[in-house]
Amino acid sequence: MNDNKIARRKFLVKAGTVSALAATGLAACTSEKKKESDVPYINFNKKYRWKMTTTWPPNFPITGEGCKKLTQWVKQMSGGRMEIIVYGAGELIPALEGFDAVSNGAVEMNHGAAYYWAGKLAAAPFFTAVPFGMNAQQMNSWIISGGGQALWDEVYAPFNLMGRMCGNTGFQMGGWYNKEINTLDDLNGLKMRIPGLGGKVLARAGGTPMLVSGGEIYTNLERGVLDATEWIGPYHDYLLGLHQVAKNYYYPGWHETGPVLELLINKEKFNELPSDLQEILLTACSRSNEWMLSEFDYKNGVYLKKIREVESVSIKQFPKEVMDGLRVAAKETLDDLAANDPVSQKVYKAYNEFRKVISSYMEIGEKIFYEQMN
Ligand code: CA
Repeated sequence: MNDNKIARRKFLVKAGTVSALAATGLAACTSEKKKESDVPYINFNKKYRWKMTTTWPPNFPITGEGCKKLTQWVKQMSGGRMEIIVYGAGELIPALEGFDAVSNGAVEMNHGAAYYWAGKLAAAPFFTAVPFGMNAQQMNSWIISGGGQALWDEVYAPFNLMGRMCGNTGFQMGGWYNKEINTLDDLNGLKMRIPGLGGKVLARAGGTPMLVSGGEIYTNLERGVLDATEWIGPYHDYLLGLHQVAKNYYYPGWHETGPVLELLINKEKFNELPSDLQEILLTACSRSNEWMLSEFDYKNGVYLKKIREVESVSIKQFPKEVMDGLRVAAKETLDDLAANDPVSQKVYKAYNEFRKVISSYMEIGEKIFYEQMN
């Protein structure tokens, strides 16, 4: 018997043993067996009960609802072998402590967005949204097909974490302003609630970004503590009542052009799952990714119509001068970030290269079409 035949016979014996054990639910979870990616490891006898914290209040429209759906899908697909208990922000840990809690295994998962972890990992915002960045469809393409996921895995690995796309808010609005923004000078000294890199861009353009939690935006805007705020899009902005406390509703949302929502998973715990539950979890995650974006797109359309009907509100486009200035400030902000952090530099380079490739096609396709469709 030649070497190839011996190797093949050995493989068949091994594969046969694993399938037989899997069928009786007795397959052992050894790292050696799990490395054979073509041989499923299934254990019907063991149940998994995971905890998932979220950055959102309990039952928050779309994102909170989507998390609940994800747990139901996982439970159904796994025949009840995997149950995920969802905790809203503050129920188990504070809203923005998911990174540490998942990293050290206190909880198995967190639903939020990578840019919340910028303080721990400067490159994290590239996996959510950067100012003047890619839209939701382009982010999906980068992460799924353009090498984005491998980079994301690489930068999260030192933290024992893996991030997966699990929703997207779609294109956001530019925000609510108590005064008109006609020139770049109108941004000077503007006190605006705008977090993350968007805030840094505003500061570079002369404004004053302020950190205000979702629950305090309405009163701060009403009392003049804030001159302006961004939130999400027409649906959530309307639910927060922002149309009652500001007159000018500006577009487009240059700072969040298609933010990816993230399911953050403890890597070690994920690796311990039987292979079918791993696939079930990732499949439910993809389905949530699709469901949340679809909901945002639809509800934003419905609620934009409602906001248009509010007489005190005028919906306006940022003038070209303002957009040009913000775009320059955005590029400087991202260049600075890359210059000061080697990981960000690597991710920024890959992000830009990918964008260049797909933009050339969008330039002659969708862009022209949208400009001329009406
Ligand atoms: Ca926002």
